[in-house]
Amino acid sequence: MTEQSRIDIRNVTKLYGAVKAVNNVDLTIEGGAYCCMIGPSGCGKTTLLRMIAGHEAPSSGTISIGGQDVTHARTGSRGTALMFQNYALFPHLSLTDNVAFSLRVKGEAADTRRARAREMLDRVQLGHLADRLPSELSGGQQQRVALARALITNPRVLLLDEPLSALDEFLRLKMRVELKRLQNELGITFIHVTHTQPEAIALADQVVVMDHGLIEQAASPRDIYNRPHSPYVARFMGGQNVLTATVESVDAQGGAVVIDQNGTRHDLGNAGGVTSGQQVRFSIRRDHIHVAAAPASRNGLSGKVVNIEYQGTFVKVALDTGLREEFIIYMSEDSFFARPLEVGRTIHAAWDASLNHFLRGANNSTGTPHED
Ligand code: ATP
Repeated sequence: MTEQSRIDIRNVTKLYGAVKAVNNVDLTIEGGAYCCMIGPSGCGKTTLLRMIAGHEAPSSGTISIGGQDVTHARTGSRGTALMFQNYALFPHLSLTDNVAFSLRVKGEAADTRRARAREMLDRVQLGHLADRLPSELSGGQQQRVALARALITNPRVLLLDEPLSALDEFLRLKMRVELKRLQNELGITFIHVTHTQPEAIALADQVVVMDHGLIEQAASPRDIYNRPHSPYVARFMGGQNVLTATVESVDAQGGAVVIDQNGTRHDLGNAGGVTSGQQVRFSIRRDHIHVAAAPASRNGLSGKVVNIEYQGTFVKVALDTGLREEFIIYMSEDSFFARPLEVGRTIHAAWDASLNHFLRGANNSTGTPHED
C-alpha cells in the first residue's frame, strides 16, 4: 500500500479571484503516513485537502497519488475518501444503509453491500447499533459512522477535515486514539486538518504548518516542536519563548554572539550565515529554563513575576523582562513548590547556551499563537 498511497504535490496554486488560497505549495506525504495540516483560519488547509480529494482543481501545479497524476481526475477515481466536518449522514437511513450508500450507487448487490457495511461498522465498534438511525447516536458515534462510510470505498488516502472539532474534550481524546489505531491497522495515508496543536503533535508522523497559503514547515512533530523553522512556527506551535537580538560577532564555526534589547548576550551555536549587526530571532523552550540565584551574565534574563498558573504537571510563570513579549518559564511542580514564587518578585532565569535555537525563517505572520 505504501507506494500506492504516496502523495506528491508540486507547485500547486489555487486562486479564488484575487485571493491566493494556496500559494505554490510543494509537499510530499509518504504512503501510509499520518499527516496533520495545521494553521490559522483561512491559511488554505481545507483548500489543499479539497484539491487532493478532487473537489477543487488547482489553478496551476500537479497532484499525484501513487505516482499517478490525478490533478484533473474525477473525485471517485483517485482512491481518496473525504470525511466531512459535519459528518453529512442521511437522517432517514439506518447506520448500515448510510455506510452502504456508496456501494448502492455503484450497483453492488444488497447482500454484498450490507455485509461490507456491517464489517466496517464492526471496525469502528458500532456493529451492535447497525439498525439505528443517526439521530439515535451520540456525536462520537455519528463520527464513527462517517468514518465507516468513508472507509467502505477502500481508499488509499483518507482525508479528514477537522474530524474532532464537534466533540467534547473527553470524546476528542478518545477518538484521537481510535483514529491512530485505525490508521495503523489499515496502513493507508491519513491527512487530517486541525486547528489544535496538541492534536497534530499527538497524531502525526508529519506535521504541515501553513500560513497565508504557504507551507511554513513540514516535518516530524518532534522537529516541529524542537526545531521550529521560523518565529511563526515557534509561536504557533507553542511551548517556546522567542527572543529578538542583534548579532555582535560571528565565529568561523558558524556560531554567533547576539545581544538582546536589554543588553544581555546569548550564544547561538547554529547561526551559520548571519553577519554582525543583523537582527535575528531565536527560541528557547519554556521547560528548559531554570531559576538561578543570581543574574546570568549570558543566556539568561531577569524579570518580575507577573503571573503564575498552576497547570497540574507544571507551573507556568510569566516574567516581565522589559522585552516586548512576556518571558515564560514552565517549572516542574516539584521545583516550583520546593521554593514557591509570588507575583511581584524579581527572579533570574537562566539556561544552557546549547538550548538556544536560531530561527531562520522570516518573522512574517499574523497567525494566532498557541495559548497554553
Ligand atoms: P479554516 O480553518 O477557517 O477552515 P482554512 O485554512 O481551511 O480555514 P480555506 O478554507 O482553505 O482555509 O481558505 C483559504 C482562503 O481561500 C481564505 O481566504 C478563504 O476565504 C478563501 N476561499 C476558500 N474557498 C473559497 C471559495 N470557494 N471562494 C472564494 N474564496 C475562497
